[in-house]
Amino acid sequence: MERFLLKGIENTGSADISGYRKAGGYNNLAKALAMQPAEIIDEIKKAGLRGRGGAGFPTGMKWTFASVDPKFPKYLLCNADEGEPGTFKDRPILEKNPHLLIEGMAISAHALKTEYGYIYLRGEYPKAKDILDNAIKQAYDEGFLGDNMLGKGIRFHLSVHQGAGAYICGEETALINSLEGKRGQPRLKPPFPVNSGAFSMPTVVNNVETLANVPYVIQIGSAAYSKIGNPECPGPKLFSVSGHVERPGVYELPMGTILREIIYDHCGGIKGGKKLKAVIPGGISTPVLPPDKIDCPMDFVSMPKFGSMLGSGAVIVFDETTCLVRVCYRALKFFEHESCGKCTPCREGTAWLRSIIGRVEEGKGKKEDIDLLVDVAGNIAGKTFCPLGDGAAGVVANFIKHFRSEFEDHINHAGCRFRN
Ligand code: SF4
Repeated sequence: MERFLLKGIENTGSADISGYRKAGGYNNLAKALAMQPAEIIDEIKKAGLRGRGGAGFPTGMKWTFASVDPKFPKYLLCNADEGEPGTFKDRPILEKNPHLLIEGMAISAHALKTEYGYIYLRGEYPKAKDILDNAIKQAYDEGFLGDNMLGKGIRFHLSVHQGAGAYICGEETALINSLEGKRGQPRLKPPFPVNSGAFSMPTVVNNVETLANVPYVIQIGSAAYSKIGNPECPGPKLFSVSGHVERPGVYELPMGTILREIIYDHCGGIKGGKKLKAVIPGGISTPVLPPDKIDCPMDFVSMPKFGSMLGSGAVIVFDETTCLVRVCYRALKFFEHESCGKCTPCREGTAWLRSIIGRVEEGKGKKEDIDLLVDVAGNIAGKTFCPLGDGAAGVVANFIKHFRSEFEDHINHAGCRFRN
């Protein structure tokens, strides 16, 4: 498949507007500005584009909800707060192809009749901040942003808002709170952001990769786009692959590419010829898979049938020498640290899970600890204010479901016998 999202990023100066324009950049904006907003939304719907942040919500439907709300002004927010362990798929767009994102946002803004947009950037991406600021300035200078985009009398202003490093600000309502200068904690839904988001106005929050797909739909048309990958959730997809593979990195492949193919064909297989022990397919909060479950198409529709989720498409690979109890412990340390503290099951529960797994990992676990972990996880799942709590509980439940014997082994032998 020809690359679109990562096209030309290996070239020096790929983030500069001159190179981007030479390769046809901003032609899709010109094409879109000649279309009616409703026509663009219709194209996005027919293309079948679904949000790439993890939930996979149909983008055209989200846009429709916001566009039919009569309140004004409306806001377009780009969620560039990727912070889940293993997820770094948006980074090459932000750092190497920022004009694709800007073009996607300008087209989306026209479709939504939005005059203001923000890129909410994770605090740990300072390099991307400078690159985006420079790219936005270039886009203003050349008339692709501002009060009169391409002389068409259409207005769209865009700026970067840098987060302070909280994972929970990747949740759209916490992101909005943070943007407004409030504490970055999730809000109760409904009302949903499409009706009452930033500054209580209709707001569309889309992921970087989602917005970067928009110019592609305009370029090739919804009919051609809907034929890429799985027709139920088509298009190109970015996979960030890390861990024990020969060639880790970010890969642009059709949605629905088989996980085994990603690991063994594109990434060169398990590092050093070792055996595969486990894979987390979509970021640390998606259910872990054992080696016999990796013939799954990586898309939003197929993954649940294999007992996991596509999530952000962040594939984390573990070879036979990995201590999975330690992986589980590190994951829970992350969730405990990132819990915003708003609701009790998550705030207290993640700390309990981390503490119990910690003693099992250290070789001080008791026989009843495994059932205790399942019980605590079960009392968190479905009882928290936002999906972070569910993610933490799911990690524990799924590691125990597939690798219970490894937890038992730690308890029976007072420590790890797997790690090199
Ligand atoms: Fe905060 Fe965790 Fe509750 Fe989400 S689940 S609101 S992160 S305490």
